[in-house]
Amino acid sequence: MKEFLRRFAAWCGFFRCPLCEEKGGNGRNEICPECREQLELLPVKGRCRGCGGRIDSALAVCSNCMAYPERPYCDALAVMEYSGAGRTLIRQMKFGNRPELARPLAMLAAEKLRESGMEFDVIVPVPIHWRRFLERSYNQTELLGTLLASETGKPMIKALKKTRATPHQSRLKKSKRQKFLKNSFALCDRSIEGKNILLLDDVLTTGATVSTAAKELLKNGANSVKVLCCARTPLKIRMSSRNG
Ligand SMILES: [Zn+2]
Ligand SMILES: [Zn+2]
Repeated sequence: MKEFLRRFAAWCGFFRCPLCEEKGGNGRNEICPECREQLELLPVKGRCRGCGGRIDSALAVCSNCMAYPERPYCDALAVMEYSGAGRTLIRQMKFGNRPELARPLAMLAAEKLRESGMEFDVIVPVPIHWRRFLERSYNQTELLGTLLASETGKPMIKALKKTRATPHQSRLKKSKRQKFLKNSFALCDRSIEGKNILLLDDVLTTGATVSTAAKELLKNGANSVKVLCCARTPLKIRMSSRNG
């Protein structure tokens, strides 16, 4: 009966889409079909194992990932490109103080996970430094992790902590960036030992952040690490991005 009422209310236009705020919502906080259409969702089949993006060469990784050293994780999945409406969605959640946008994102991520058949035991979110936490009052990746855990039925373990705040990466040269990231994560929960981990981050740019986090998990006995990110930065704007 409840389901019938929700559908009826949605049909009457009672709910608003959380992204465009027009009357196209479905009462489950999912984004409306028009907004969804504007997202550049990435294909699950034929994806790059380094960043989750489209393969644009004859090799197993995309041309961008070829420029980076071998990743410590074995697979990556990205929900969409970090551009257009997808970029707005993530930036609103992160910097626009709109944590409610984490739900539609988590639902999209769960959809991609099901489609990929990716297997894992636990979800580990990439942490933020407490100083960033104070600025924002929530950790968007942790929030996504909690929602994704309820969508997938797999537990979330906050196994990592950020030991120092890394400056926004666009302000640093590649060598400096790597130096800053080195040892910037520490394990704080040993229950990940022997587990297959799904490492969750919001935006993947160079893959340096998730690589550093994955190394720390593997060093401490994780069985394997796979990466799930909400969006990956497309090649053209990668150089000027603020994310890791
Ligand atoms: Zn919409
Ligand atoms: Zn790639």
